[in-house]
Amino acid sequence: MATILDFEFEAHTNPIAADDRTALLANPGFGKIFTDHMAVIRYSAEKGWHNARIEPRAPLQIDPACAVLHYAQEIFEGLKAYRLPDGGAALFRPEANAKRFRESARRMAMAELPEEMFLSSIRELVAVDRDWIPEIEGGSLYLRPFMFASEVFLGVKPASEYLYIVLASPAGAYFKGGAPSVTLWVSEDYTRAAPGGTGAAKCGGNYASSLVAQSEAIRNDCDQVVFLDAAESKWVEELGGMNIFFVMDDGSVITPPLGGTILPGITRESLITLARDAGVDVREERYSIDQWEADSKSGKLREAFACGTAAVVTPIGRVRGRTRDFVIGNGGPGILTEKLRTDLVAMQRGEAPDPHNWLQRL
Ligand code: PMP
Repeated sequence: MATILDFEFEAHTNPIAADDRTALLANPGFGKIFTDHMAVIRYSAEKGWHNARIEPRAPLQIDPACAVLHYAQEIFEGLKAYRLPDGGAALFRPEANAKRFRESARRMAMAELPEEMFLSSIRELVAVDRDWIPEIEGGSLYLRPFMFASEVFLGVKPASEYLYIVLASPAGAYFKGGAPSVTLWVSEDYTRAAPGGTGAAKCGGNYASSLVAQSEAIRNDCDQVVFLDAAESKWVEELGGMNIFFVMDDGSVITPPLGGTILPGITRESLITLARDAGVDVREERYSIDQWEADSKSGKLREAFACGTAAVVTPIGRVRGRTRDFVIGNGGPGILTEKLRTDLVAMQRGEAPDPHNWLQRL
């Protein structure tokens, strides 16, 4: 059992005034505004994890030879704190993020942050900046833990120093009212992850390499990219930042299996559990893009949706590519998609029973 570091607290001497904060929280958007503080823990090969602090959020001073700027040894996480109906606050499955962060670190040959330290860094930060959890409908405090190689050295090797930081950023409702359907662009020229690669790790490099496909999607009036497997360009894997599910006409559900090339999403795992709890047959099996097109056209496929922490559940209305264009169902959100979204949101906000103990009260 690793020891939990005590966090030293340095309060911001000039925090954002309460009135200004209230104004910001009325319409926070996503990823643009930040709370007054951040959590920081340092790692060095000699000292291990040390110097855990909650300190004023401020720019970092980085040496231009800092390893991350050259070889991209960097990982991150994303999770949310929600207001509960009784005025309290809770995190949704933070221990799953802690575990995935460790797994990402291992894949990137980085120091592994003990899960208890990950969890206490988030708890301590949210305790200090608790007033930043929006009270508006659908609002949340998005938490962004990340870690990078901070050693000043140009040799290519796993770094011996790391900086771990948690930022907190108030977020508004991703979608007001029901989630609108998105149109996906099938990427045929670019893949996201190859067998043996880093697809299952939440490392910045995966996102950097996906951006050219995202630009192609936008150029083609699509909202998001759906990636196929690297070996055969045949099997549907996931979106640039979300996992994917298919709902068939017999009521069963298919989602691509975790095979090292897709991110093991916590929303994905939660929805599999919720759907099975509701008696739905959920199969983790490969589904090809050709089958998806044929089943959409024949009506065998009723609904498709994407899922992730940011947008929870997003209905997929249409799929386009260089050689494809097909509509799913009637192009709008399907019944099971809406039910799963509503059930998961209610659970995350403490408005429904929590039989799996997914909420951690703060
Ligand atoms: N796939 C990718 C590539 C992602 O970036 C994300 C967002 N973290 C997801 C799937 C969904 O994961 P989660 O449900 O844990 O947010």
